[in-house]
Amino acid sequence: MSSNSSAVSPATKAVVSPLSLGARAYPLLALLCLLLFAAEGWHAWTSREAQLDDVETSSANLARSLLQEAEGTFATVNAALVGVVERLEVDGTRPAVLDRISALLTAQSRNQPGLRGFSVDSRSGERLVTSVPNLPVGASDAERPYFQHHKTDPGPGSFIGPATRSQLTGNWIITISRRFEDQDGQFAGVVVASVEAAEFARGYAAYDVGRQGSIALLRTDGMILSRHPYEDAAIGRVISGGSSMQQRATLNPVGNYRVTSPIDGVERLASYHRSDRFPIILLVATGADEALSDWAREAWLRAVVVVLVAVVIVLLGSRLVAQIRRRRHADLVLARSEAQFRMLAEHASDMVSRVGVDGLRRYASPAAKRLLGIPAAELVGRRPEENIHPDDRPDFDALVASLGKDQEQGGLTYRAMRSDGTEIWVESTLRLVRDPKTGVSDGYVGISRDVTISKAVEAKLAALATTDGLTGIANRRHFDNTLFTEWRRAARDGKWLGVLMLDVDHFKGFNDRYGHLSGDECLRTVASVIAETIRRPGDIAARYGGEEFGVILPSTDLAGAKDVAERVRAAIEAAAITHGGNDAGVVTASIGVAVIAPTARAVVEASALVGAADGALYAAKRSGRNRVIAAEPSDAAPAQADEGAGHGRG
Ligand code: GH3
Ligand code: MG
Ligand code: MG
Repeated sequence: MSSNSSAVSPATKAVVSPLSLGARAYPLLALLCLLLFAAEGWHAWTSREAQLDDVETSSANLARSLLQEAEGTFATVNAALVGVVERLEVDGTRPAVLDRISALLTAQSRNQPGLRGFSVDSRSGERLVTSVPNLPVGASDAERPYFQHHKTDPGPGSFIGPATRSQLTGNWIITISRRFEDQDGQFAGVVVASVEAAEFARGYAAYDVGRQGSIALLRTDGMILSRHPYEDAAIGRVISGGSSMQQRATLNPVGNYRVTSPIDGVERLASYHRSDRFPIILLVATGADEALSDWAREAWLRAVVVVLVAVVIVLLGSRLVAQIRRRRHADLVLARSEAQFRMLAEHASDMVSRVGVDGLRRYASPAAKRLLGIPAAELVGRRPEENIHPDDRPDFDALVASLGKDQEQGGLTYRAMRSDGTEIWVESTLRLVRDPKTGVSDGYVGISRDVTISKAVEAKLAALATTDGLTGIANRRHFDNTLFTEWRRAARDGKWLGVLMLDVDHFKGFNDRYGHLSGDECLRTVASVIAETIRRPGDIAARYGGEEFGVILPSTDLAGAKDVAERVRAAIEAAAITHGGNDAGVVTASIGVAVIAPTARAVVEASALVGAADGALYAAKRSGRNRVIAAEPSDAAPAQADEGAGHGRG
C-alpha cells in the first residue's frame, strides 16, 4: 500500500502546477509591460519638459534681443527728446528757437525708420511746431494722454504713452514724450515723438514663432504697443492676464510662464523680458502644441514601437507559457504512466527485472523475495546468472546474446538457486529494450516465474505417457521408442542390441481359474520380477500388451541376452505364484531372444528384431513352454548364431 501511494503521489502533486503556471506568469508579463510603459512614459515626460525648456530658452533669448532692439529705438528717440527739452528750457519758445528746433527734428526724423516725427506742444496744449509732414501747427494736443500725463505729473523722465491712433492716417502710433519747464520751473509744454506701431511688428516678422505664437511689445501695464502678427484690433488693448503679467514683471524682470488663452483656448509658453530703462516689456509666446509637435511625433512613434514590443512580449510570453504547460503536461503524463508501470511491476506476482547493457540488474520487483528469497534491493547491481544453476548458465547467456540479433524476445526455463539453497525451476521471458529515439539496444526486461510445480506436473504427465497403467513399468509406446533409439545407437556405435519377448504360460487359464483381478495382480508381480531381474541401467522392461512383456538390452550380445532371459524365466518361476492350470503348478513364462550384432552389414528394421524375438517366443511355446529360445541368426545378426535354444528348465 505504501509503495502504491509513494508511486502515485509525485504525479498528483504535479497536477497543481500547470494550472497555476498561467496565474503566475501572466501577472509577471503584465508587470513587464507596465514597467515598459512606465519607462516610456517617464522618457516621454522628461523629453517633453526638455523640449519645453528648449523652447523657453530660445523664446527668452529672442525676447531679450528684441527688447534690446526696442530699447535702442526708444533710447535714440529719447536722446533727441532730451536735446530738444534742454534747448527749450534754456532758450524758451521764441519763434526763432522753434524754427531751429523744427529743422533739427526734421533731420532727426529722417534717420529713424518708423519714426513719424516730433512735435512740441505749448503749456496749453497748442502744437507749436512739428516735424510730422502734413500735421497742422496750432492744433490742440491738450486731450492727448501724454499731454494729460505731463501736465499733472511733474516727473522729468520720458513717458511712453498708450497706443493711440494717428490723427492723420488713423494708424496706431506709440508716443514718447518729455515735459519741459520755463525759467520759473513751471510746466511749459511737452515734446513728443511718435513711432509707427506697425514698424516694430515689421521687425518681428523675421522671427518664426509658429501660427499660434506671437511677439508683443508691451507697456509694463500690459497694454499692447505693437505685435507680430500685426492685428489692428489688438493694439492698445491690455493683454489677457495683463495684471498678473504686470505683477510678475514687477517682481522679476525676466521670466517664463504658461498661459491658456481665454480667447482661442490655446495653451502658450510665454517668455518675457522687462526693460530696466523704459517701462516696456517684450513678450514672446509660442503655442505649446506647436512647440511640442516634433516631440509629439517622436512620442507617438515611440509609443507605437513600445506597444508593438509589448504585444510581442505578451505573444512570446504566452507562447512560452503554452510550451511550458505542454511540457509539464507531458511530464505529468509520463510520471503517471511511470507510476502505473511501476505499480504493475511492484504488484506483479512474477518478478520483473531490468538489466542494462552491462549485464547488471538495474531494477528488480519485490516478487524477487518470493521467487528467490532475496530482497529486490540486494539484486540490483548484480548479474542474473548468479542465481542460475551453473549447468543452465550457458543456455541463459546464449539467450541474452541472441537478443537483438536473432530475436527481440526469447524465453527459457532453467533451474535457479534460492537463498535457502533449494533449487526451483524458473521460466523467464526476456525482451530487448531499445532506446525509443536511437533504436540502440539498452539491455532487456525479464519477467520470471516459478514453474517448479508445473514442471513436476509435466514430468508426471510425461511419465504417465510412457508407463503402463497396470504394472507401473514402461508401456508399449515407450518400448517402441526406446527400441528405435537403441537400434539406431547400436548401428551407429557398432554395439550389440538384444531383445526379449516374454509371454506368460496358460494365462487364460489363470484368469479363468482365479478371476481377472488375480490375473492383474499376477501380471503386476511378473512385471516387478522382470524389472528387478534386469539390473543394468540401460535395460528396459515394458508391458508389450496383455500378458506379453518385452525387454530391451542395449550392448548385450546373444549369450548375455540368453543369460538375462534365463534369469528372468527362473525368477518368475521362483516367484511361485500358484497356477493350478500350469504344468509347473506355478506361473511360468516363455521367452524369445533375438540380437543384432555390431557387424551387421545390412540395415535391419527395429521391428524385424521384435519379429525375430516373437518367432523365438512361439518356438518356445511350441516346444513346451517355460523356456528360453533364441532366434536363428539372420543377416541382421550374422555373428553369433547360437544354437543354445532351450535354456529352459524343461
Ligand atoms: P499360452 O501359454 O499359449 O500363452 O496360453 P494362454 O492362455 O496364455 O494364451 P494367450 O496368450 O492367447 O492368452 C492370453 C490371455 O491373457 C487372454 C486373457 O484372458 C489374458 N489376459 C490378457 N491381458 C490381460 C490382463 O490385462 N489382465 C488379465 N487378468 N488377463 C489378461
Ligand atoms: Mg499371450
Ligand atoms: Mg500366454
